[in-house]
Parts: sequence; C-alpha cells; structure tokens
Amino acid sequence: MSGGLVAVPAPAGQQTVRRHNRALVLGYVAEAEPVSRARVAEHTGLTRGTVSSLVDDLIAAGMLTELSAVRGATGRPASPLQLNRSGPAGLGLEIGVEHVGASVVDLSGTVRVSRRVASDHRDQPPDVGLGAAARLAADVVAGAGLPVAGACVALPGLVDAAGVLRRAPNLPRWDDVDAPERLSALLATPVRAANEADLAALAELWFGDVPADFVHVSADVGIGAGIVLGGALFRGPGGCAGELGHVVVEPGGPACSCGGAGCLERVAGLDALLRAAGASDVEALVAHPGPALAVAAGSLRIALGAAVSLLDVRTVVLGGVYARLGEDLREAVAAELATMTPPVDVRIADPATGGALRAAAASVVRALISG
Ligand SMILES: [Zn+2]
Repeated sequence: MSGGLVAVPAPAGQQTVRRHNRALVLGYVAEAEPVSRARVAEHTGLTRGTVSSLVDDLIAAGMLTELSAVRGATGRPASPLQLNRSGPAGLGLEIGVEHVGASVVDLSGTVRVSRRVASDHRDQPPDVGLGAAARLAADVVAGAGLPVAGACVALPGLVDAAGVLRRAPNLPRWDDVDAPERLSALLATPVRAANEADLAALAELWFGDVPADFVHVSADVGIGAGIVLGGALFRGPGGCAGELGHVVVEPGGPACSCGGAGCLERVAGLDALLRAAGASDVEALVAHPGPALAVAAGSLRIALGAAVSLLDVRTVVLGGVYARLGEDLREAVAAELATMTPPVDVRIADPATGGALRAAAASVVRALISG
C-alpha cells in the first residue's frame, strides 16, 4: 500500500484479489448483519488487518455503516457493521402491456418507495412507455432520497444478452428496441433490461420461501415462465427459455401475435380469461371468475404438465393474474396435475416478495455487493 500523496495503482492481480475479498466481506455482511469485524475475519478467513482495510474503504464508499459499539460478554466493545441503508440504491422499472412501475430499494433490498400506474402501450410507439416509465422513475427516486447507482427494467418479451427487447408479441411496435440505452439517456443512470417472468421468478427465489428448483408462471396479457434450477435462473443458451405463453394448448385455436395459433396466452392469458368470465377488468374477474378457472386450469395442465415432465421440477408457482385468482385457481391446477408422479406442489406467488419490480431493483444492489 502506498502511504504517499499520489495513489499508486496496485498491479492487476492484486486488484483482482482485492475486488474478490471486497465481495467476500460485503457478501458476508449482507448475509449476517449486524456483524463485527472479528466475525467477518473469522468467517471469510481473511486477516483482521485486511478486513479492517476493506471495511474502511467500504464505509468511505457508503456501502457499509458502523453501528454504535456494543459490549460483548468478553473483550473490547465492538461496533457491528451493516449495509448502509442510506448508501447506493437500486432502481427497478417495469414496463407492461398496460402499466408502468418504478421502485427503489436500498442496499439491503428493502423497498423504500414503489409505485405502479396504468399506462396503455399496446398500439403505441416505444417512446410512450419509455417516457411514462422515466417520469414515474423520477418521482420515485425523488421520493426515496437515495443515491441511485443504476437501474434494471423488466420487459414483457424476449430480451437478448445486450438488453435489447427483440420481440414482445403484445407490444407489436417494440421489436428490437434498445430500452436500456434509451432509458439511460432519459434517467442519466446505467440501465439493464431483463425479462419480466425471469425477474418474477428471482423475486420468489430471493425473497420468498421456495425450493431450489421451480417454475414460476407470470400471467398478464402475455404469459411467461421463469425457470429456476439448482437455485439459479435458467435462461437458456439464447436467453429465451420459459416462453410458456407460446406453448400450443389448443391446436387450431385462436391466432396468436407470435404467428402461431392456440398458444397458452391466447387461451388462458388475461384477455381470454376476461372473456370467459364476462368480466370487464381484473377486479371483476377476481370477484366472479366463473368458467375462467376451468379454462386456465385445463390449459395450464397441458403447458405446465409438459414443463414439469421435461425439467423434472416439482414445484410450480402461479404469479401475476393467476396469483390474484388465488386458492381457487391453485386447487383447480393442482387437481389437473394430480395424476403426475412424483406429485407436483402447486403454489400461489407470495405477494410479499414484491415481484418482478422489486427483483429488478434488487438485481442492481446485488450486483454492487457481488462486485
Ligand atoms: Zn403465441
């Protein structure tokens, strides 16, 4: 280490080691907070000197904060460390077919401000949805009063590795839209993009109570699935895994915007369920679902039955509009899948996880912590 006035950059290898150690320290504090420096050293296997130097840097960077000293059973009083709730924050955005959402989480992943408003994007050019998301984001960021380190936007379609929305069948004018680039310019912060259904599955994984292997179905106008295997999101080699909404459940059925016919989302997506129930909106559907339950359960039997058999995943989580339909739909889907061996555990998504919007925001702070 240089004690002089001019900082001498450490060689590349040392920088890599330091970055790795920094992530170790931050990761352990995130898991065990509040925690003493001594415990961090013990757990990470780093020397106390190394831990102290890293912790001092992390406090200076606003990532960690030291609580007032507490006296343990023995020894000197220690000042426990925790993630700095006033430090760098993550901004989550969601652009749906008929809504936008924005949420700010602090470093601990706690939601500080979150809003969701109606905004119709079906036949609109991308600027309408991007502008609505950016305006809502500005309000939410101002309300949270935290320094935003970056943002992630949840999009209802195929998002490639570069974050470009390649295709969103229910947003026909959004093909090949570089949403991160356009939102970065509007928000003056780095923005990533991810598929909404993938983020909804991550919300269950990070904040819910699910096993390490499950499929989360996210239903709205479109339907997507997030596949989690061994505690990690499975996106497929092209990032397009989980397009459950375009599995054919009714051959020769209604034409789909993907070019196919009889796809799950045409038969059991929000529009089809509203028609089946004779309902004008989601609230009316939830109040009197009627035949919509059997329609959804019968279609999900085909699509989810195939997914479960292919992946050997035994837990299915119903999210989005399906979660709003609650226990009645859960029972109907469980009954449809009851003949499968081994049995399938059908659950309703936990609303307390905060869904795709919170996961989008949390992905930003998780990236800061893992370095
Ligand atoms: Zn389709």
